[in-house]
Formats: sequence, structure tokens, C-alpha cells
Amino acid sequence: MPSLSRRMFIGQLSVAAAALALSRRSSAADSTPPKKLGVVLVGLGSYATHQLAPALQETKSCRLVGVVTGSKEKGLKWAQQYGFPEKNIYGYDTMAQMADNPDIDIVYVVTPNALHAEHVIAAAQAKKNVISEKPFTATVAQAEAALAACRAAGVKLSIGYRLHFDPYHRELMRMARDPEFGGFTKGKGNFSFTMGQKVWRAEKKLAGGGPIMDLGVYLIQGACMAAGGMAPIAVTAKEGPKTRPDMFTDVEETMNFRLEFANGFAFDGGTSYQQNFNEIRAEGAKGFIQIKPAFGYKGMNCETQNGPLKLTMPMSHQALQMDDFAECVKAGRESRIPGEMGLRDMKVIEAIYAAAASGKRVELKA
Ligand code: NAD
Repeated sequence: MPSLSRRMFIGQLSVAAAALALSRRSSAADSTPPKKLGVVLVGLGSYATHQLAPALQETKSCRLVGVVTGSKEKGLKWAQQYGFPEKNIYGYDTMAQMADNPDIDIVYVVTPNALHAEHVIAAAQAKKNVISEKPFTATVAQAEAALAACRAAGVKLSIGYRLHFDPYHRELMRMARDPEFGGFTKGKGNFSFTMGQKVWRAEKKLAGGGPIMDLGVYLIQGACMAAGGMAPIAVTAKEGPKTRPDMFTDVEETMNFRLEFANGFAFDGGTSYQQNFNEIRAEGAKGFIQIKPAFGYKGMNCETQNGPLKLTMPMSHQALQMDDFAECVKAGRESRIPGEMGLRDMKVIEAIYAAAASGKRVELKA
């Protein structure tokens, strides 16, 4: 197991132990509500508006205390709706001033992919803990710079991989690590949707790439989960034909790829902006897990060798994810979804592009 995976695994064990200790302690003194950390959302687009802001109302350990937006008018509407002061509305160019604002503990970056790095760096320099949406950045170099800024500032960093809190993906991870099950040998998945009109997600300047950045990253995550938390050691890939060359001028429309892992697990992934799929499957000598649909905010369907599996969630993925990060910040421990994991995935994405361009198998360093 490479050292990062081992660290993550040990980190997850200690997260579980800490959660148990915390729940014991809080049941002994449950009259004191947990301290809520102040969260600022950067970029008030669809995901911030329809998922994160409502999820913040569900959380136990977070509260929405401000926003970063290009539109003061929009900021004022949010301040009124969520009851935070006007002074907590920032512009992208005034993020440095957050350093003087003790209301803010966590800055959540929800802008287009290629802007994540500069917004993560601005938040870190203001000494705020950071969550970056997926994909972490648009390139490996940006991911390294953003990670270095967080380390230099001594702040915690996590990536918005909400499926780490999805019960079916947790079952996938559990099965992968169950010694009795004996691991998965092969897997496959596809996450695709049909883009009707060109948006920033199909522009290299803002998205960093095409569907592999936006959707394929979920498959990379799922594959690494099915491999017991390991990173792939080699990648092969082939870009699919463009049925809408007018729309996909500088990014791929479709990408198919294979990830190989040191334990022999192999995963075949496909992602497209002109197809419709939403599924992942992994199988081993003793059984399988299939999640279809797999990547939504809810409504997943899951089946294993034992038949249909129905699991429930106490809160939305996003609320669980933000509460978990807030507890990490409070306890001074690393997130189970650290910046290093975001960097790992950016390296896989760049290897997929390199493999597709060269037609050759590309090896990844551990
Ligand atoms: P969106 O287009 O709805 O919102 C993007 C926001 O960024 C807008 O408010 C826009 O005004 C702002 N912005 C700031 N500078 C900009 C610029 N130069 N050009 C364009 N917009 C700019 O997008 P979204 O769907 O909210 O996605 C935002 C991020 O969240 C993406 O990185 C995406 O991958 C991620 N996301 C994650 C999930 C998830 O399930 N984890 C789901 C959706 C989106």
C-alpha cells in the first residue's frame, strides 16, 4: 500500500475512533450544543445555491456567515436570506480582507475548476481553512501550488468529494477492505450526461478539460475506493469521436480509460458530455457491488451478491461532508479527503490525457 493510501486508511481508522469518543463524550454532556464554525461560500452558482447553502442549514457544526461573489447585489440577497452581516460579503478581489474577520473559519471554493487554485490560495493566505470543490484544480501544477499554500499557512484543506459520506460508496470501501471478501479484481463505471448547450464546463480555460474533469473524477474516486484506497499505477486511455465538434472545440467530448492497480484490480471507465450513464460496479471472487444510479445527491440503487441493498443517510452528503470537516478543524486533524487526494486525482487525470494523446500505457509513480 503506498504511503499516502496507508496514511488515509490509518486516518480513517482514527476518524472512526475519534467519532466514537466524541459521541460518548457528547452523550455524557449533551446539553452543550457543538460550536458552529463560520463558513463562507466562494461562487454563488448552481451548486452553492441549490446544494451547499441548504445543506449548511442542516449541519450541526457549521453556519453560513458570508459569501464571495462578483455581484454585490447577489451578496445582499444572500445576506438577507441567510441572516449574515453585509460586512461579510466579499468580492473575488477582496478575499485577502477575510484575514481580519473572526466570523470566518472555513472558506468553501465553488467556482469553475480552473479558478479553484487561485481562490484556495487566497483563502489560505487569509489563514482560513479551505474546502475546494472537485476537481481540486485544472492541472497538477495548480494542485501542488494550492496544497503548498495551505501547508505554508498551516490551514486544513479538504476536497468536496461528497460520496465519501454516501452509504453505498462507504459499503464499496468497506467491501474492498474486508479481508474475508478478499478484494475486488475488476470494476467498471460510466458517468455521462448530454450537454445541450455549451457552458464553461466545455471550455478548457475554465474547466481545465472536458467530462473527465467534471464526471470522470467520480470514477477515478470510485476505482481508488474499490482498490482499497490505493492510487493507480498505470493508465491507458482513448478519446471517443466527437459528435458535436462545434461544442467541444478544445476539450474531449468522450473519454474511455483503464486504471491498473498494484493489487491486480483493473477498472474500465467511460465519461462523456454526449451520452447518458450513471453507474459503477466492482467484482471479486466472492461477489460484487453495483450502484446504479451511483453519483446523484440521492436516489441511488445498489445491489450486491446478497441482493438489493437499502441504506439510509441521516443528512445530505454535503451536510455530512461539511460537518466532518468542521470537526477536523476543531480537533486539529486532517480530513479523510485531504488535498493530497485531490492532487493524486489530478495526476491520474493528466496521465489519462497523456495516455490518450500518445496511445501508450502511462505509468504513475507511487
Ligand atoms: P456554476 O456555473 O453554476 O457556478 C459557478 C460560479 O462561479 C458562478 O456563481 C459564477 O458567477 C462564478 N464565477 C466566478 N468567476 C467566474 C468566471 N471567471 N467565469 C465563470 N464563472 C465564474 O457551476 P457549479 O455547477 O456551481 O459548479 C461550481 C464548482 O462546483 C465546479 O468546480 C463543479 O465541479 C463543482 N460541483 C460539484 C458538485 C458535487 O457534487 N460535488 C456538483 C456540482 C458542481
